[in-house]
Amino acid sequence: MLVVMQAHATEEQVRAVCEKIEAFGFRAHSIPGAQRTAIGITGNQGMVEIGLEELPGVQEVIRVSKPYKLVSRDVKEDDTVIRFSAGAGGETATIGGSDLAIVAGPCAIESCEQAFAVAERVHRAGARFFRGGAYKPRTSPYSFQGLGLEGLKIMAEIRERFGLKIITEAIDNESLDLVEQYADVIQIGARNMQNFSLLKRAGRARKPVLLKRGMSATLEEFLMAAEYVMSEGNYNVILCERGVRTFADHTRNTLDLSLVPAVQKASHLPILVDPSHGTGKRDKVTPLSRAAIAVGADGLLIEVHNQPDRALSDGMQSLYPDQFDELMTEVRQIAAILHRGVPQPAADAAPTAQSAASR
Ligand code: PEP
Ligand code: MN
Repeated sequence: MLVVMQAHATEEQVRAVCEKIEAFGFRAHSIPGAQRTAIGITGNQGMVEIGLEELPGVQEVIRVSKPYKLVSRDVKEDDTVIRFSAGAGGETATIGGSDLAIVAGPCAIESCEQAFAVAERVHRAGARFFRGGAYKPRTSPYSFQGLGLEGLKIMAEIRERFGLKIITEAIDNESLDLVEQYADVIQIGARNMQNFSLLKRAGRARKPVLLKRGMSATLEEFLMAAEYVMSEGNYNVILCERGVRTFADHTRNTLDLSLVPAVQKASHLPILVDPSHGTGKRDKVTPLSRAAIAVGADGLLIEVHNQPDRALSDGMQSLYPDQFDELMTEVRQIAAILHRGVPQPAADAAPTAQSAASR
């Protein structure tokens, strides 16, 4: 159920409605919009009569017929924009606004040298978000599993040095505690999209959550996974299309760009596209990045490595830094047609010793 407040409703009136909902043992989610505040009610099984219509400031009480509620545009008409403050030495950044969010970095943090070499180049090219894995969900237990806490500490140093916002994956509740401490955004990977206890834990975290689509998830299952996070009180959720399993064998996955407008119709949440995992092939990453921006995605997640042929994971789909520069140039041109901005290359990023050596 959803309570729609009048446009001029006061904060006290909103609070009184929330208190009444909670007195019945339900959860109230107050979601301010550009025109008016809406209050989502969760925890109630079906329509219950709690007499909210009579309270001052209430315009109407409506039943949300879709299974996802807080994720839905019925609850919040305007797009969600997630804002990141500048922090020490950094710049402000957004995900979901008119500026595209460019997230780039290696699949896994392998060493301080490797991570800094990649970070220096993606920062210079204009990315505001650095993504690298410290905890890697690998198909084989014998593959590189990530550096764990050491990887998180390296990323914290990267934030310090370049002002980049850090995104990294949590694979279980234990790693989520640490990722919440070190990162700016907590990633939940495709394999965990329906790990409901992890989703609930992420919903209690104080950092935004980047939720990747499961490799066989429908639109509704994807949105329900986001609903799990939001139902716990964390409304800063970013969706990410990363390809699904099909019979096609010319790519690792089939990047489903039609999901972007479908999500945007159903939900107010931002949606990024990951053409790296979506194709698994380096030469397809830039063409599909262009397509993703053209279709209206709110940004990209791109794997970049300073030495892809030596990468400990996903080298085949990782761009060389020069290719990432080119991708940014092309994406900027397409974004301009759609009146969307892409951060300009960082002017002051002097090359570090490591990156100079790697070129
Ligand atoms: C990743 O982003 O590094 C990753 C493992 O992706 P996915 O969960 O989409 O497979
Ligand atoms: Mn990867």
